[in-house]
Amino acid sequence: MKRNNKMQTTTFIDNFITPRLTRSPDGRLLFDGFDCEQLARQYGTPLYLMSEDTVRANCRRHLNALRRYLGADAVAAYAGKALSCRQIYRIIADEGMYADAVSSGELYTAYASGFDMSHIIFHGNNKTPADIAYAQKLGVGLIVADSSYEVAMISRSAASAGIVQPILLRLTPGIDAHTHQKISTGQADSKFGIPIDRAPEAVAHALSMPGVRLDGIHCHIGSQISDPKPFCDALEILLDALSGLQSDTGFTARIINLGGGFGVRYVDSDTAANPDTIFSALGSMLDDFCRTRRYPHPAVITEPGRSIVADAGITLYTVGNIKQSGAGTTYVSVDGGMADNPRYALYCAPYTALAAVESPGGSATISHTSAPLSDEDYLPTEFNLPDTAFNDCAIVGRCCESGDILVPHAHLPRVCPGDIIAVLNTGAYNYSMASNYNRLPRPPIVMLHNGKAYVAVRRETPEDVAALDC
Ligand code: PLP
Repeated sequence: MKRNNKMQTTTFIDNFITPRLTRSPDGRLLFDGFDCEQLARQYGTPLYLMSEDTVRANCRRHLNALRRYLGADAVAAYAGKALSCRQIYRIIADEGMYADAVSSGELYTAYASGFDMSHIIFHGNNKTPADIAYAQKLGVGLIVADSSYEVAMISRSAASAGIVQPILLRLTPGIDAHTHQKISTGQADSKFGIPIDRAPEAVAHALSMPGVRLDGIHCHIGSQISDPKPFCDALEILLDALSGLQSDTGFTARIINLGGGFGVRYVDSDTAANPDTIFSALGSMLDDFCRTRRYPHPAVITEPGRSIVADAGITLYTVGNIKQSGAGTTYVSVDGGMADNPRYALYCAPYTALAAVESPGGSATISHTSAPLSDEDYLPTEFNLPDTAFNDCAIVGRCCESGDILVPHAHLPRVCPGDIIAVLNTGAYNYSMASNYNRLPRPPIVMLHNGKAYVAVRRETPEDVAALDC
């Protein structure tokens, strides 16, 4: 599909939380210059759209700040759990990033994209023996061991493969990152990592294992963190531990991996993490530590996921059933939901929704389609709801769960069945968390780049969904 010529007349609306999302003077939502409603008609809905340029810009911003403040040898490993498909690995490799992976599926996807597997960091709190052997067969650069038990497993597997596996030990600093409980990982009572006070015995054990080479330590405190303080607190604890480890065990870390977790904006009130602010604070701490303790400056690794892809993506849906509940809530049902975005159902994650076409004033009723409705298309809604009913409406999905909500309090213009709405900043943890619940086929990912739209992941069919049934 060709970029819409209306791009030239686009007005940038400052308060959109999504880069490259604009509204034309006649009220049409444009993403990277493409008319969203036209894309929806062309590719169908639900539809994940990604701006490749935003992904690239996010990579550059992170990597530039990281290297400016933490050293030219610093490495950013994109956390594939945020969005894993072949094309994303090609893009991030092209931007000079490494990647982390947590399963054989993610490993294979990276491998199948042609990714340099020595640039892969393999994670997980319960890697199976098969996962470890597969990671080693593919030649991953580093494995992050979650426990001493895992170190022993990695060592045994490496020995039988005739290699010595470079590893990091994941330590849990015991701090509260002040983010949602379900995306916190650095607190004392975490299923991830080795409690920091047990680091000396874990390091001594790892140093004694013949199949591994202990290169350093890792720590990831949680996700969606914008305040530099939790990152600084974690680093302070890690540096303190490193100093003790050097005197107790003689171990000097060549690598410190600080994990990911850099926050993004989902709604107006969110603040995005600023890589310059965070990395300059971390850089000063690390430099001070190395200078005063005469500690060799370790190479720093980060693992950003969400901050690379979240605001590069939006999801388009078609509105179907619109009704008012007995309690007065206006329910706007769309043709997707928790199967393509389970994040509200999982942890009440907030999102922003916009109509794909809106009058310039913002709230008036408008003609809702540019394409004529076909026979199989939508009928007018049976209710004549006032415009005000949409000022605070619930956008809900089509799954058989009351918790299947996308946006519980959306502010929309009057929408009608057949209209397209966009949920913003869905690039992270949407496709990667999508399921076939209710046997719904997963939507495609269409990437936008240089005035062209291309399919990065095709739409599943009902046949795909049943393909593995015996
Ligand atoms: N690294 C590790 C070990 C993680 O567990 C996660 C997320 O769960 C990430 C990196 C990526 O976090 P984010 O997407 O918030 O940057």
